[in-house]
Amino acid sequence: MRKTFYFLTLCAGLSTSIFAQDQKETVEKIVKEATENSQLKVLAHELLDVVGPRLVGTPELKEAHDWAVETYTDWGISAENQQWGVWKGWDRGITHIDLVNPRSVSLEGMQLAWSPSTSSKGVEAEVVILPEAKDSLSFQKMINQVKGKFVLVSMPQPTGRPDENWEEWATPESFEKMKKDRDALNDAWDARIKATGYSSRELPKILEEAGAVGIITSNWSRGFGVNKVFSAYTEDIPMVDIALEDYGLLYRLAEYGDKPSIKVVAQSKDLGEVPTFNTIAQIKGSEKPDEYVILSAHFDSWDGAQGATDNGTGTLVMMEAMRILKEVYPNPKRTILVGHWSSEEQGLNGSRAFVKDHPQIVAGVQAVFNQDNGTGRVANISGNGFLNAYDYLGSWLNAVPDEVADIETHFPGAPGRGGSDYASFVAAGAPAFNLSSLSWNYWNYTWHTNRDTYDKIVWDDLQNNAILTAVLAYMASEDEEKTSREQIVLPVNKRTGEQMTWPEPRDGNRRGGLDN
Ligand SMILES: [Zn+2]
Repeated sequence: MRKTFYFLTLCAGLSTSIFAQDQKETVEKIVKEATENSQLKVLAHELLDVVGPRLVGTPELKEAHDWAVETYTDWGISAENQQWGVWKGWDRGITHIDLVNPRSVSLEGMQLAWSPSTSSKGVEAEVVILPEAKDSLSFQKMINQVKGKFVLVSMPQPTGRPDENWEEWATPESFEKMKKDRDALNDAWDARIKATGYSSRELPKILEEAGAVGIITSNWSRGFGVNKVFSAYTEDIPMVDIALEDYGLLYRLAEYGDKPSIKVVAQSKDLGEVPTFNTIAQIKGSEKPDEYVILSAHFDSWDGAQGATDNGTGTLVMMEAMRILKEVYPNPKRTILVGHWSSEEQGLNGSRAFVKDHPQIVAGVQAVFNQDNGTGRVANISGNGFLNAYDYLGSWLNAVPDEVADIETHFPGAPGRGGSDYASFVAAGAPAFNLSSLSWNYWNYTWHTNRDTYDKIVWDDLQNNAILTAVLAYMASEDEEKTSREQIVLPVNKRTGEQMTWPEPRDGNRRGGLDN
């Protein structure tokens, strides 16, 4: 008995040390492949420069999906596009916005996503400010002022300098005064909108019905030269966003009575109903093919720019990690699957649909690693409310080289309820984790802005994240144990006094932006 026991311990000890040796070698190979043969720049060029932005429903997103399948196929990884729904199809085309009176100058601006077009010649008209009424009744009487005009519907910003710039250079009194003045302007603008009797979301449509020829917004992102670019709310007239600097110019010209006119050429195309896809690629598991390590990053973007950091960078990290794994770890124990989800930006739609459509994969999930907050080094990981995550995630992280893994972990954490695609898996009870990055001014400067471009990528950080992801995937695949899904007991909500519950899975919107 004792002997047998001794023998068993020895065996276990031996296999552990063989694994430790293998593990060290594999990790070294991952680092070598990532540093000496990085494909990140080539992939970024092909995806961001050649294909461009990837708004759901656009030909560019379909082109990107096809490119991803081709790229994986070239690497010997099987890949396919899986349709999960349909969306309002739209092709952005060209936008030209020129001031033509009182002087000529081209303005910086673009159509909001899904904006209706102009005729090919464009529309030339005067620009007016949203009428200031004292209540909705008087607004109705004034609304005919917008007939045949472009209407400015955003508050003019008093400064195009970000607050940190004021903090650095202004006297404290001057900085305080600016903020007070800006708050007062904000209040006055809110009151102006409220007096119309409509929300700022409803107004464009109302102005359209009153005969306006176009709607002009300016959604400043509180940094030098950055605006956020989201969706249009009109049906037949173009809705464009104009950069803070040029919007301010138009506003002042209108306010001082200079009667500015602009010419807008908006050549977008409504493409009707088009299919939406996720790109799924996988390296089949050799021992446990029905258990899955999932690499996850949404593939779609808003289209004010190239979607470089949201989520080009997450996409590139996952693709590069897959390429490296195929190269140095071609026969994983478990299946390594990558999901490039679409329509994350409109509510995690692609990943929610995938979770709903593939219950057997979700049941076999060993771990999901998602990345979606910019170009920085991964610096935070939460256990997302899985009670034993510290155990397995902790041991996998131990295998990551020190220079790569400067990561703060939060265990057990609380289940993530949104924000990115890991939440679709967490809701279904599958251990899913978000690899959260350092900011690099993400929220103001690149997230959903007109400046989310290739040049903002920090290559060393991306390479770091590719190594981290590949090592985590390798360790999760090799782990002797299937991961525990045990959930923490959630606390009582202090506000409502009620016991909090685990988030519920929801299906994606399978029919976006279309009337029934
Ligand atoms: Zn994103």
